[in-house]
Amino acid sequence: MDYKQIKGTVFNIQRYSIDDGPGVRTTVFVKGCPLSCKWCSNPESQCFAPQLSYRYTSCKRCGKCIDKCPQGALSMGEDGLIIDREKCDLCGACVKKCLYEALSISGKEMTAEEAYKVVARDKDYYENIGGCTCSGGEILAQADFVAAIFRICKENGIHTNADTSGFGSREALKKIMEYADMFYYDLKLLNSEKHKEWTGVPNEIILDNLRYVAESGIPVVIRVPLIPGVNASEEDIHNMAKTVCEYAPNALVSMLGYHEYGKNKYRMVGMEYAMPETPSLTEEEKARALEIVSSYGLECKIS
Ligand code: SF4
Ligand code: SF4
Repeated sequence: MDYKQIKGTVFNIQRYSIDDGPGVRTTVFVKGCPLSCKWCSNPESQCFAPQLSYRYTSCKRCGKCIDKCPQGALSMGEDGLIIDREKCDLCGACVKKCLYEALSISGKEMTAEEAYKVVARDKDYYENIGGCTCSGGEILAQADFVAAIFRICKENGIHTNADTSGFGSREALKKIMEYADMFYYDLKLLNSEKHKEWTGVPNEIILDNLRYVAESGIPVVIRVPLIPGVNASEEDIHNMAKTVCEYAPNALVSMLGYHEYGKNKYRMVGMEYAMPETPSLTEEEKARALEIVSSYGLECKIS
């Protein structure tokens, strides 16, 4: 098959992104992830299949979508629409009826070439440092599609960044590495049992893959969400820095303080936020984290 025609499922393509790699970028978010991190801020990214998404803060409770549903999947409750997701076949009739854009289908199948065409719209803004980032969801779960997007980007002189949890087969990883200029690579928890408890999967594959990418010489930024009560104690940060020294000593460590930005999205796709009440990091804790990681000779930042 022509690689440009390889299909994948995308839940968002974000233009003018400044947090997904160097410079101005367009980020292609693929849908579906084998992990289910309790703090995930993109719950709509977890399910591989398209889903009906309901933005209840935009809903005016007019009820006009209800009669339009051929499956009888919609009803009005005290707190907005109730969606019977077992009945919904994603026909989109309710989406078309809603004037307030409270309903949408999250997830769309497209070819690598179609995704690239969106990326290419902003080529003039990338200059020499920006480009395309593929993120998720988990890119290793759609490796052929992501590799094809990157391949087209490289053929057109566009920089590529692969944003991954690292949980996937070596074969999938190699496909993406062939066309990736850099990696954003997550490091969440170092104890595999704890990793499984909080993310749904163990971490051995992730660490093995990290070493493999780092040894290839492709630049790596290690992204660490620092979550109080989960992985943000001083001991945890020391262990994380030691692990980076062992597996990817040339990587930049980019720590991100925990936030609840994604909490309200859970209801949109019929999920519940499973994260217990967790405080944000204080400025003092952030400064201390930087101090610890720097003491290992690692380049690091925190946001
Ligand atoms: S989702 Fe849209 S059409 Fe349906 S009740 Fe809300 S505002 Fe009305
Ligand atoms: S997408 Fe179709 S089946 Fe699903 S709730 Fe809307 S109208 Fe009903």
